[in-house]
Amino acid sequence: MKCESCGKQTEEGWSVCPSCGHSAGVSEAVLAVPGDVARGVANASVEVATTVVKATEHAAQDVADAGKQLGRETEKVVTSVGDELKPNAPPAAPKP
Ligand SMILES: [Zn+2]
Repeated sequence: MKCESCGKQTEEGWSVCPSCGHSAGVSEAVLAVPGDVARGVANASVEVATTVVKATEHAAQDVADAGKQLGRETEKVVTSVGDELKPNAPPAAPKP
């Protein structure tokens, strides 16, 4: 592979050019995010929201709720992408 930006040779699978930092194949990298990474992102969002609640007062609760919601949405989106990438499950056995 070759960097689109600076033209230097990059290894297959690299998402960022080590020479100039140009991102290559970002969409591929995003599609390859496994579900547990998505859950990590979701959990991190909840953690941040929880920290905000501890650090501030009532108003922070709204921020926390929004953060938790964001975490759930992120997990949903990436999980659905992951499901699409999975090979098709064998057809269910017909019921007698
Ligand atoms: Zn480059």
